[in-house]
Amino acid sequence: MLDKRPFTTKEKLEEIAKVYPTPFYLYDEAGIRKNCEDLYKAFSWNKGFREYFAVKATPNPFLMQILQEYGCGCDCSSMTELMLSHAIGAKGNDIMFSSNDTPPEEFAYAEKLGAIINLDDFTQIEILEKTLGYMPKKLCLRYNPGGVFKIANAIMDNPGEAKYGMTTEQLFDAFAILKEKGVEEFGLHAFFASNTVTNNYYPTLARTLFEAAVYLKKKFEVKISFINLSGGIGIPYRPDQQPNDIFKIAEGVKREYENILTPNGMGDVAIFTELGRYMLAPYGALVTRAINCKHTHKEYIGVDACAVNLMRPAMYGAYHHITVMGKEDAPTEKIYDITGSLCENNDKFAIDRWLPRIDMGDLIYIHDTGAHGFSMGYNYNGKLKSSEILLKPDGSFQLIRRAETPKDYFSTFDCFPIYDKIFE
Ligand SMILES: *Cc1c(COP(=O)(O)O)cnc(C)c1O
Repeated sequence: MLDKRPFTTKEKLEEIAKVYPTPFYLYDEAGIRKNCEDLYKAFSWNKGFREYFAVKATPNPFLMQILQEYGCGCDCSSMTELMLSHAIGAKGNDIMFSSNDTPPEEFAYAEKLGAIINLDDFTQIEILEKTLGYMPKKLCLRYNPGGVFKIANAIMDNPGEAKYGMTTEQLFDAFAILKEKGVEEFGLHAFFASNTVTNNYYPTLARTLFEAAVYLKKKFEVKISFINLSGGIGIPYRPDQQPNDIFKIAEGVKREYENILTPNGMGDVAIFTELGRYMLAPYGALVTRAINCKHTHKEYIGVDACAVNLMRPAMYGAYHHITVMGKEDAPTEKIYDITGSLCENNDKFAIDRWLPRIDMGDLIYIHDTGAHGFSMGYNYNGKLKSSEILLKPDGSFQLIRRAETPKDYFSTFDCFPIYDKIFE
């Protein structure tokens, strides 16, 4: 068992909570920086290596700018993600546009920013050309070989059921057509499995993409300048999971690279990644307070956050480790359901969880919420989104997004005079 510890102390959280009341998201700048440094170190064998941070995971400009310092680009899949990337100064090849079911105006905006467009589907060739009035000189294509994706006979995920990417046949046709249309530089992309906790995922995916790249280069005599391994490197949400080793992962990719690409005259191909979860999930926590306890058929602890602030448990039944602050070493003597206040019975951050005895007012630290946490938030029951706070390496803290207010929530009712009635 891994001893999962918060990246901060109860005293620090109480200090922050005096200024910014719970619930709030807290991010650990020191952890983010160290992890990003390690990623670049691990892939330093590849000259063109670049991480394009998956903006959807944590669309906060302050955090994106920290990653930018290390050379990370932005992986976008919507208009507002493109806008956010533009706002932090990303441009041209700093942006990868890996969208699907794409509205034409988003292609146009991505092209205006000079982004690398990653085509999800064969039919988008025509739409893209019609939208722009020309074909970009550089394009990435998203591959989905179908079937189930296995590593050593264990089924990892099911690409055959995934809506993304082109079939092998479509991919080949796309290369032929795009070469004809004057595309000079290609990239190849695939995303086979999400949240993988194994050092073999990237190397296995890389082998498939490298072999396809060698074949396509020979068959169509095109220049393939990068391979985009996309996201999917996971983190150990559960204390009994063994964390990935990014150095082993990068070594595994290198081995495939030297076996497949280098001997085929493709030793200059750049490796790109589009990691989201791996970059930030462990370095963010949702901090909430126990405000109600209820004893009926079960023991319930009600907190001041709810699924609006963190949807993963309600949506996927996802496990998030919980620490009762100040009781890190106390014995786990009670079984609780930790719930939010939505009128939705799946609004539970934990079900039947062994925890230390919780007192009203205790701070509850929900681990590993730095990616796909805040960003999946919604507004059901008229509940509001929390603030986001950055904990700096020197122990100081900075508000990097204020909490939503009722005024924000009602702001789209231009057509009904709510403001006049409630806010004088
Ligand atoms: C969601 C997504 C990612 C990031 O996935 P993680 O699991 O967070 O690493 C990367 N690329 C694309 C195209 C995505 O949709």
